[in-house]
Amino acid sequence: AVPLVVAINTSMAARNGMLIRDRIAMEDARNLDTIVFDKTGTLTKGEQGVVEVATAEEWDEEDVLALMASVEADSEHMIAEAIRTEATDRGLSVPSARKFEALEGRGVRATVDVASVVSAGGERASTEHETVYVGGPNLLRHLGVDVDEQLGEFADLAGSRGQGVVYLLLDGEAIGAVALADVVRDESFEAIETLHRMGVEVAMLTGDSEDVARAVSEELGIDTYFAEVLPEDKDKKIVELQEQGDLVAMVGDGVNDAPALTRSDVGIAIGSGTDVAVESADVVLVENDPRDVVSLVKLSRKSYRKMQ
Ligand code: ADP
Ligand code: MG
Repeated sequence: AVPLVVAINTSMAARNGMLIRDRIAMEDARNLDTIVFDKTGTLTKGEQGVVEVATAEEWDEEDVLALMASVEADSEHMIAEAIRTEATDRGLSVPSARKFEALEGRGVRATVDVASVVSAGGERASTEHETVYVGGPNLLRHLGVDVDEQLGEFADLAGSRGQGVVYLLLDGEAIGAVALADVVRDESFEAIETLHRMGVEVAMLTGDSEDVARAVSEELGIDTYFAEVLPEDKDKKIVELQEQGDLVAMVGDGVNDAPALTRSDVGIAIGSGTDVAVESADVVLVENDPRDVVSLVKLSRKSYRKMQ
């Protein structure tokens, strides 16, 4: 017969968006020493967003963004979408542009009535459409454009964090830039802070670069990270932690995460996870919310407290 406490546990779990595939693992969850999170799509949204804006001296941040969004209006590139989203989120009014042209692998170009947007451009007498470019370092090189010291430093800093930089060019000058990065989920901060308060260590596992991993890890206050880990090596990192004597959970969503989910003491598939991840997991979290990992540990502690 199924012990009553476990039965209650399962239905409570289901109501909280947890599907329990292995009850022993669910019982172990209360004693976890370390929870390892996959980065992309788990702690982060897995999509590019604008994380910072910089301008050349006299230019205004919001004007730069509005102009960028204007030039990007017609582009289907992920970068264009990130820029348009940022402009919308900031409630900017984006002027309409004409003569869009994609510059394959470099950026985009269009003509915009720059004076209609620009606050600093009170001085710009012209109401003519001017040719405006938005593009990456490749475009700068192609057009032979140098950036000023301010934008140069911005680009260096962004680069050291593993972020991409896209520039706004007008009259052969770079007048602004945005840094783009995979954006951290708001919920990740709370999840990690709570796990720390509960005495659980948090680690992050990613195939992404050392620069990106360090930046995300510092932003979130993660204890340990493993960067540039090949898919076939993810499970070895779990073993390393287990060999230190830790009881380890792995949280991930991808096919790549499956061996690590299997290897861990508590394998947690999260979100719309791939079938392979779900099949390899002990617990499936239905929503893509890292705070549900906290709920899982809390539920385990509550349910099994008196069952030593
Ligand atoms: P990838 O798929 O690696 O992004 P692309 O050929 O699409 O390669 O773009 C290469 C680079 O050109 C981008 O990283 C970016 O710097 C620039 N770029 C391309 N399209 C755009 C765009 N619509 N807006 C801004 N920059 C762009
Ligand atoms: Mg992933």
